[in-house]
Amino acid sequence: MSKKLEGKIALVTGGSRGIGAAIAKRLAADGAKVAITYSRGADAAAAIVKAIEGAGGKAIAIQADATAPKAVQAAVDKTVGALGKLDVLVNNAGTAIPKKFEETTLAELDQVINLNIRGVFIATQAALKQMNDNGRIISIGSCVGERMMTPGLVPYSATKAAIRMFTQGLSREVGDRGITVNNVQPGPIDTDLNPAAGDWAAPQKAATALNRYGKVEEVAALVAFVASPEASYITGANLTVDGGTNA
Ligand code: NDP
Repeated sequence: MSKKLEGKIALVTGGSRGIGAAIAKRLAADGAKVAITYSRGADAAAAIVKAIEGAGGKAIAIQADATAPKAVQAAVDKTVGALGKLDVLVNNAGTAIPKKFEETTLAELDQVINLNIRGVFIATQAALKQMNDNGRIISIGSCVGERMMTPGLVPYSATKAAIRMFTQGLSREVGDRGITVNNVQPGPIDTDLNPAAGDWAAPQKAATALNRYGKVEEVAALVAFVASPEASYITGANLTVDGGTNA
């Protein structure tokens, strides 16, 4: 049976855990060769590569802090060198530091902005130079980039709102190459960053229409569709997968 991403090469930033790991596994299951980056968790990254290869796929892991332009450029070069080319970039690496805005330090603001916005900019610039026609730029925004129901995520939601306009703007520049640019906006998804059993979980769960946290695979399924040739007419779109949080 032919797989819908057969012959494609994908790079997933922050692919060693959580949503990024699920995306890497799903793209590989659909036939793509996948490179993942990570910042600190070499063992976790190696475990994802092993899981993908154990399922018959091809993957490599690259240490590259998504806030460091030279490391990100090197990760793109290594992906192309090892796997042949680049068709799909998934800007997944991101973080939140939940606390009241007034109490957030400058260092914490810089950390969130540098990873969630600047990191997406630099990875996308590096990737576009090497990307094939009909490629895919997919960023993981958040449903809180569109609508906010809880306190404690002010800078985070602002960075994810920035990803919305980045997506819409860039779609207008690369459409002539058939490259699509889309923003996948998850709701509460059970990961190390946002555990379904954590202190912050109850109001997030209550805000969904489905009254539950989402699973990483439920985000990966949408990313895999947007990455596929079938999604060729979807671009500049902000696609929400949030259990009805923003309904
Ligand atoms: P996790 O914290 O569970 O995983 C983050 C992943 O990114 C890890 O693989 C981590 O690797 C990597 N990473 C972290 N910092 C860097 C960095 N500086 N450079 C490279 N890699 C890095 O996060 P989630 O899976 O929950 O979130 C993934 C994305 O989804 C983020 O953009 C987040 O904002 C977004 N999102 C998450 C939601 C949720 O409810 N979970 C909801 C909406 C959006 P390492 O261990 O090596 O640092």
